[in-house]
Amino acid sequence: MTPLLTAENLVKQYPVRGGMFAEKRILTAVAGIDLELYPGETLGLAGESGCGKSTVARLLTGLTPPTSGSIKYEGRELARMSKAELAQYRKEVQMVFQDPFSSLNPRMRVAEILGEPLEIHRIGDAAGRRDKVAELLRRVGLSPEHMMRFPHEFSGGQRQRIGIARALAVSPRLIIADEPVSALDLSIQAQIINLLQDVKKDLGLSFLFITHDLSVLRHLSDRVAIMYLGRIVETGSRDQVLNRPLHPYTEALLSAIPSLDPKKRTRHVIAKGELPSPVAPPSGCPFHPRCPYAQPVCSEKRPELLEKVPGQRAACHFSEEIFLKEAK
Ligand code: SF4
Ligand code: MG
Repeated sequence: MTPLLTAENLVKQYPVRGGMFAEKRILTAVAGIDLELYPGETLGLAGESGCGKSTVARLLTGLTPPTSGSIKYEGRELARMSKAELAQYRKEVQMVFQDPFSSLNPRMRVAEILGEPLEIHRIGDAAGRRDKVAELLRRVGLSPEHMMRFPHEFSGGQRQRIGIARALAVSPRLIIADEPVSALDLSIQAQIINLLQDVKKDLGLSFLFITHDLSVLRHLSDRVAIMYLGRIVETGSRDQVLNRPLHPYTEALLSAIPSLDPKKRTRHVIAKGELPSPVAPPSGCPFHPRCPYAQPVCSEKRPELLEKVPGQRAACHFSEEIFLKEAK
């Protein structure tokens, strides 16, 4: 199958001032990642906050240009698209944001919030747009009567439903959702995840679902990519990555999730210390200062993201020794 969206060796750096003399330094938010997103799939992108996930989202939606590397949509390079092609791209690739309140204009009624993208993309006439807004509200589990209300008249979960309706308004093919449930209560999170699942199934959409919470990905992702300090350190199917990780960082993230079944956790590993600064990333394997399995070579040589078992890749010198030995 041809990917819908491909990122190759994507890099994003920002100049920052820091240190005692406020010298100019480079912050590498995204340090050369490869991603593929296939039609109809949900790829979960997970990692601690500050690892570069949101930057990836902004690069992929074309909101920020990469420092280097390539983004292709249906094989066409984003950087070389014409204005019209880019407008079409921005229509087909929609974002859902973390904070449903700050992403909705407080002075606009829901009818205007959902009508605006229809107007911008010249979809339907005034009457047609009104019908479409009503249909979108029903689609996300709200009543068309809510149309004349303002964002503050809704709960957090309802506001996120409006955010999802706005993304759906222009019939996208891909939705990039950046922590769409992390600002919500647990019970509301489940409702929103179910809604996203339904929408995906009914409309055949692709999703890039960005989260710091791996337990959320168990419910809705087909494949998972784990990010650490601007790099992808592991990818594979959901079951591969979440049930048998091949990278110590993934293992640490998973063991941080409280499990109801104590037999499911054979090892309990916690990453030591804090996420290092992306201004001065560690040498060799970027995880080595925190890794419980680190060996001398780990601080010298950076491991490539390599296929360890069919369909599952990890960037660790010792995946086989740590995770695969006992299975043999
Ligand atoms: Fe840990 Fe070394 Fe593997 Fe990095 S390469 S994750 S430091 S064992
Ligand atoms: Mg973020």
